[in-house]
Amino acid sequence: MKIGIIGAGAAGMIVVATIAENLKGNAEIFLIEKNDGIGKKVEITGGGRCNVTTGLRDIKEVLKKYPRGANFLKFAMYNFSPADVFDWVSSHGVPLKTEEDMRVFPKSNNGKDVTNLFKNIFEKNKINLLLKYNVLDITKKDEKFHVKFSNGEAMNFDFLVLTTGGNAYSQTGSTGDGYAFAKSLGHKITNLSPSLHAFTFADKNIKNLAGISFKDVTLKIKGKKTYEFIGPFLFTHKGISGPAVFAISSMAAHEKFNNGEVFLFIDFFPDKKYENIFNELNKNISENQKKEFINVLRNFVPKALAEMMCKDAEISEKKCSEVGKKDLNKVTEFLKNMKFRISGKTPGEEFVTAGGVDLRDVDSKTMESKICPNLYFAGEILDVDGFTGGFNLQAAWCTGRIAGESIVKKIK
Ligand SMILES: Cc1cc2nc3c(=O)[nH]c(=O)nc-3n(C[C@H](O)[C@H](O)[C@H](O)COP(=O)(O)OP(=O)(O)OC[C@H]3O[C@@H](n4cnc5c(N)ncnc54)[C@H](O)[C@@H]3O)c2cc1C
Repeated sequence: MKIGIIGAGAAGMIVVATIAENLKGNAEIFLIEKNDGIGKKVEITGGGRCNVTTGLRDIKEVLKKYPRGANFLKFAMYNFSPADVFDWVSSHGVPLKTEEDMRVFPKSNNGKDVTNLFKNIFEKNKINLLLKYNVLDITKKDEKFHVKFSNGEAMNFDFLVLTTGGNAYSQTGSTGDGYAFAKSLGHKITNLSPSLHAFTFADKNIKNLAGISFKDVTLKIKGKKTYEFIGPFLFTHKGISGPAVFAISSMAAHEKFNNGEVFLFIDFFPDKKYENIFNELNKNISENQKKEFINVLRNFVPKALAEMMCKDAEISEKKCSEVGKKDLNKVTEFLKNMKFRISGKTPGEEFVTAGGVDLRDVDSKTMESKICPNLYFAGEILDVDGFTGGFNLQAAWCTGRIAGESIVKKIK
């Protein structure tokens, strides 16, 4: 019995570890990877520290962090929850810690500890690790999967698991090859879009705001649908980035942003009503009649942003005594609903791919294809993706775990 797992990322590594630890020598396991090492992307998550999973323990809350695939993930998530992942990794010799923002990391802050954990399992269980093996093509004939490699070699497998990831950060090896393999074996691939990324704005003056950050603002995107998220963000030289931006980029992943017709709105004071802000500004003006208005506005927002607002409202030179109701309404509108034209996503810097193998073609309790028996999927290749904070690795671990367990059940 030969089992092939294509792609040694998070999903592929946990599939192999699960089969190896539960099947004990009843099959030949081949982990196939085109890079010269395993877990390249796993190691760079969390800024090189490996954001193993989330510290959230309520599965219902965890599932809310997946704009796509939450329902499909339910069974796998209860089967190998963030708490289970925490225990599994810790019990394999990598102590973990949960940080204040609920992200989980190795206590060592070294992402390589996680890949080394898997290396040890593979060595102990004599896994056939085929590095620098680039899969070109897969066909199925007479119950066997025929896999061709770019070096001219080929192999046959009884079971095959596709864990080739998405096509984000392609320098790590995830070049979207698996979508073509899945398609050639009869599966539909849903729309693919970059997700978890920063935005660029059309306004050239945006660079003046670079570095200004906010803790809790409301971001709203109005495209084909409207999306809203409250959280921290910062202005960059070209637009905006940060946790709230990643979250809203994920919610709006399939919107088209490069036509300049989609706008992002920022409410800098989500806890205050428009009238309250207007009245506060008005009060400040009456108490500081001789001051320049910009100096009053600086009590509300940082200098560079106050300058931009005054310029856009055409009141840069005005004293408070010269600022009328119309001007105040304009500035209040900026504070509550500042509008930026989105020019695009930051190219090539997204963390994940939204879209993938159509979930209707896959059994969520086993990760086996409903179309092609003995073919399994796990990880980002599926049409499942989540927010930042460990949710994408968690999806890879739990789908990989269940794929591995299902294969073990079939063979035993
Ligand atoms: C910069 C960055 C930061 C991130 N930070 C976080 C984070 O903090 N928390 C979090 O949860 N997620 C994070 N993610 C997302 C997370 O890393 C991925 O969702 C996850 O690693 C996907 O795992 P996977 O096993 O499905 O795919 P991958 O890790 O992409 O693995 C796929 C593997 O398949 C191999 N492969 C592809 N095609 C072939 C082929 N034809 N032949 C042979 N091998 C092939 C690739 O080389 C690759 O090694 C981050 C992603 C990036 C890019």
